[in-house]
Parts: sequence; C-alpha cells; structure tokens
Amino acid sequence: MRVKYFWEDIGDKIAIFVLRVLSRFREDPNACDHEWEVYSTALNQGWLELTCHKCMSNGAVEDPTKEEWEKAFDASSSPYRWYENERVTLGQRIKI
Ligand SMILES: [Zn+2]
Repeated sequence: MRVKYFWEDIGDKIAIFVLRVLSRFREDPNACDHEWEVYSTALNQGWLELTCHKCMSNGAVEDPTKEEWEKAFDASSSPYRWYENERVTLGQRIKI
C-alpha cells in the first residue's frame, strides 16, 4: 500500500513537471497578440465566449449584435476566428 502510494505520488510530480515545462512554450498572455476564436455562447450573460489559441486565455464579447449572436450558436461544433480584438474582454487564463 505504501509502495503504491509512493509511485502514484512520483507520477503526479512528473505530470506536473511536464505540464510546467510545456507551459513555457506558450505565449505570455500579457505579450500575446491574441488570435481569438469564438467557441461558445454564454446564454445567461448574452456573451460570446472566446479563447486565444496562442496563449489559451479566455475572453468574451459582451455586446454581440443579433447576427453575431445567432452565428455563434454553431461555434461549439465549429469554432471560428474573431478579428475584432478591441471588442474582446480578457478573462481568466485557462489553468493547467
Ligand atoms: Zn493570446
């Protein structure tokens, strides 16, 4: 039991180390020239939900037009590029 626990613990540490190393190769969100993709809609807020595929930040468009909102209904199955960066409110970076 003790041996099994030991190896599980080492496995977790290795996994965390690998993720930390990999995360260094991602863009710094503060320096990132974001490339947003619409991937979902936040029904309750009326927002479009976006993610930057370069630095994995979350963002939202809080004032979509009716056309933009309807287009975004298909985003969960087929995300699409969003070019109006100035309309994106930066959210939390996705944690690993
Ligand atoms: Zn970015």
